[in-house]
Amino acid sequence: MWDFIIIGGGILGMSTAMQLQQTYPDKRLLVLEKESGPAQHQSGHNSGVIHAGVYYTPGSLKARFCLEGNRATRAFCDQHGVDYSICGKLLVATDALEIQRMQALWERTAANGLEREWLSAEALKEREPNIRGEAAIYVPSSGIVDYAQVTRAMAAEFERLGGKIRYGVEVKGLVERRAEVVVTTSSDTLSSRYLVTCAGLMADRVIRMLGQKPGFTICPFRGEYYLLPEQHNHIVNHLIYPIPDPGMPFLGVHLTRMIDGRVTVGPNAVLALKREGYRKQDMSLRDIGQMLSHPGILKVLGKHLKPGIGEMKNSFYKRGYLELVRKYCPDINIDDLQPYPAGVRAQAVSRDGKLVDDFLFVNTRRTVNVGNAPSPAATSALPIGAHITQQVVALLSH
Ligand SMILES: Cc1cc2nc3c(=O)[nH]c(=O)nc-3n(C[C@H](O)[C@H](O)[C@H](O)COP(=O)(O)OP(=O)(O)OC[C@H]3O[C@@H](n4cnc5c(N)ncnc54)[C@H](O)[C@@H]3O)c2cc1C
Repeated sequence: MWDFIIIGGGILGMSTAMQLQQTYPDKRLLVLEKESGPAQHQSGHNSGVIHAGVYYTPGSLKARFCLEGNRATRAFCDQHGVDYSICGKLLVATDALEIQRMQALWERTAANGLEREWLSAEALKEREPNIRGEAAIYVPSSGIVDYAQVTRAMAAEFERLGGKIRYGVEVKGLVERRAEVVVTTSSDTLSSRYLVTCAGLMADRVIRMLGQKPGFTICPFRGEYYLLPEQHNHIVNHLIYPIPDPGMPFLGVHLTRMIDGRVTVGPNAVLALKREGYRKQDMSLRDIGQMLSHPGILKVLGKHLKPGIGEMKNSFYKRGYLELVRKYCPDINIDDLQPYPAGVRAQAVSRDGKLVDDFLFVNTRRTVNVGNAPSPAATSALPIGAHITQQVVALLSH
């Protein structure tokens, strides 16, 4: 009998496992991950940005955990020898409408307690000679890291503390009983006193295995990137973001410096036809069927039909994609957009057709389950792991 089983070897599973093992050094903990190593899905296919907390509703879990996570990620990396850089970020407005939207973001950053600076067009030019804009917000605390490396460091620390990890083991069934949770996997049946699930793109399915009706389903959105050629490695000094459309859930195509010195453009947001499908042609009949039969997803698709079609068009038509970035970085040309692997976001959608905005957890008597953990969940992984640990402590005391 295990004391705790954690499903999912992404950054949330590993952060939680590490912190639970620190809290309970004598208990037996096991992480189950269906892939052959850690961070094979969202945690290894993202922009690698240590977000500062610009966008999130003041008072939300996202706002709180992102701010805490920004500091905690740096401290963890310092402690475990993981490279990162606090290169700062610029949110660039290119016209009057965007300046208006930038004003709203400026106020939000104040409410979220962020250090930031309003840059005129001249001040922006001075910081970023290759970027064109009417004005910008400079946020010094944004940074970059390789989250796969952070996840591996968490896994190593968890194992050092005595925790066990089994890769290549898929959880197929869960039964919660009075004194245990029975976990059926692709190789055997296990029993644990408590269970934590951090299953990313499969979050809702794992919660349903427990016999729960989570009230949301996961909608996968592929984020496609391009890599700039090496001669553009110094095209920008900061992370460069457009001013997002407040009606849209994602941040828009940005220029991201990576910790290995390269620069990517992206990601867009295209409905994916397979949850863990990274290529345009990847499809799963089960996933498509589930989306088409979910009233909430159909409402979301209807509501965002026009921008959704635009994103889809730009996914196939490189010149359309190029225009998104040329708006603020006119020196980039079509030949500069080189292939780079995509990521797939797990976004929970409620039955009434809303994209669930905040982080969401679903608890039962013996389980804590992550339901919705989109960006900035990688930045927030340490506070989220601490939050789950507190919830487990509360379950144990009942
Ligand atoms: C394109 C993109 C860009 C992003 N950019 C950023 C960014 O710059 N900064 C930021 O903070 N966040 C970013 N994010 C968000 C961030 O990457 C995710 O929120 C975070 O990685 C979620 O971690 P996770 O552990 O919940 O999920 P995952 O990393 O997806 O891990 C879930 C794991 O559970 C496993 N699993 C699922 N079902 C089972 C099962 N039945 N049995 C066993 N194992 C199972 C999966 O194999 C997987 O490894 C981005 C995400 C994407 C997709």
